[in-house]
Amino acid sequence: MLKEISLGLATALMIFAFVAGYDILPLVVLGLAGGALYFIADTKGLLKNFDIGTSNSSAAKITFEDIGGQDTAVKELRECLDFINYEDRVKKLGIRPLKGILLTGPPGTGKTLLAKAAASYTDSVFLACSGSEFVQIYAGAGAQRVRKLFSSAREKAKKKNKSSAIIFVDEVEVLGARRGQNSNHMEYDQTLNELLVQMDGLKVDDSVRILVIAATNRADMLDPALMRPGRFDRQVKVDLPDRQGRYEILKIHARNKPLAGEVDLNVIAKETFGFSGAHLESLTNEAAILAMRENCDQIYYRHLHEAIDKVIMGEKMEKRPGKEELYRVAVHETGHALASEMVRPGSVSALTVTPRGGALGYMRQHHEEDHYLYTREHLENQIAVMLAGAVAEEMVMGNRSTGAANDFEKAFQTAEKIIRSGLSDLGIVSWDSLSQEQKYNEIKNILDNQEKKAAEHLNKMRLVIDDTVNKLLEQEKVTGEEFRMIIKKNIA
Ligand code: ATP
Repeated sequence: MLKEISLGLATALMIFAFVAGYDILPLVVLGLAGGALYFIADTKGLLKNFDIGTSNSSAAKITFEDIGGQDTAVKELRECLDFINYEDRVKKLGIRPLKGILLTGPPGTGKTLLAKAAASYTDSVFLACSGSEFVQIYAGAGAQRVRKLFSSAREKAKKKNKSSAIIFVDEVEVLGARRGQNSNHMEYDQTLNELLVQMDGLKVDDSVRILVIAATNRADMLDPALMRPGRFDRQVKVDLPDRQGRYEILKIHARNKPLAGEVDLNVIAKETFGFSGAHLESLTNEAAILAMRENCDQIYYRHLHEAIDKVIMGEKMEKRPGKEELYRVAVHETGHALASEMVRPGSVSALTVTPRGGALGYMRQHHEEDHYLYTREHLENQIAVMLAGAVAEEMVMGNRSTGAANDFEKAFQTAEKIIRSGLSDLGIVSWDSLSQEQKYNEIKNILDNQEKKAAEHLNKMRLVIDDTVNKLLEQEKVTGEEFRMIIKKNIA
């Protein structure tokens, strides 16, 4: 609006000067040059309002009760936040204010949710931004944005009659990476310095107390100056949820969804090892969409299982392999499944020849328990399962295909893990001190043994392979239960 009025006034003045007989050419040239500069600066974002912190009204609705599977993180965060809630005691004891909390953990585990819940818990205004929003190619712009962010936080808190504000900086590693590391380092350094200056300036008796909560999944990249006492000196780990955690998150996201009586979310939690909170939210949402597509009023296991496949593997692909290729895929997946049942009976959850994401078919396993440590036997069994797809192809079709390349890659990595962990026949060795030949021989030794183990087992199960492949070609998907029935029938 102001822009339009100024433009109008300037034009009117020029017309007046022209009519009055003045030489307006220098003014016109000056005006054009000014306009061009303004245009360039505007398009490059230099004249932006620097209002990158957005006060999020939905933040008020998120509470710690909406966050599942992060009990430790919630407890630690609450303890930190009590410094804000018990201001008088903090002042009396002369405690310096808590200025920054760093949330570290993989993507989608609930770091943003925790920051929003922190704002509700402390009745603070909430401003969110991402480290990448500060990165400008123009020197000084990032630092100016940091100053603007802190002053907006104060203004907004005052306007809303609140005594505290929480500034949430996602992807802080972009802004707070070790100084001097970036090619554009002068600008990055200035931005980081400004953040440190602003944080250093926070005091316990400020009329609006500001707490900065930053999130990263690359804590190792952060400048040590950020973690110094008095800055982000509290770190809260936000890890992937364990089985119980996944169950709680699923319960939260199924609150508004009609689950059929047959559905026990514990079963789904068991099958979703490695899923983050964001994955689990997506899973429940996808299951509801699938139920709607089928015109169902309730969500059944089949919807949830298909949603798991979708979250793990991606959307179903339109293109379908030819008949012979489909047969090969069915044989390959049956090989994996048979080895899986050999090393851990009851472990197959489903096998399918539906192409999804980049895969033409896949076998999904139940995870018995969440594992954090592995024995040599466990890792070798995994290798046997990985190699069994190619072994089955060779046995049934007389040759192998490129479809096993990914399996081999994973098998190499697992074998390397065995050696690096000192679990191989080489004993405790440093990977770097091994020659190429030693590495090759030991990896080959591990893989050969597991390939032999898988081949011996599959040889005994030839009839199971045929029956399963037929069923897979007929119905595209075989559940773990159906697969075990086929094994039972053929062994009996
Ligand atoms: P990123 O590191 O990618 O920014 P994040 O850790 O900040 O991710 P959020 O943005 O908090 O993750 O989570 C994304 C979504 O995933 C949430 O809106 C929520 O639906 C779901 N979610 C993630 N973690 C949890 C959890 N612990 N409990 C409930 N829902 C969760």
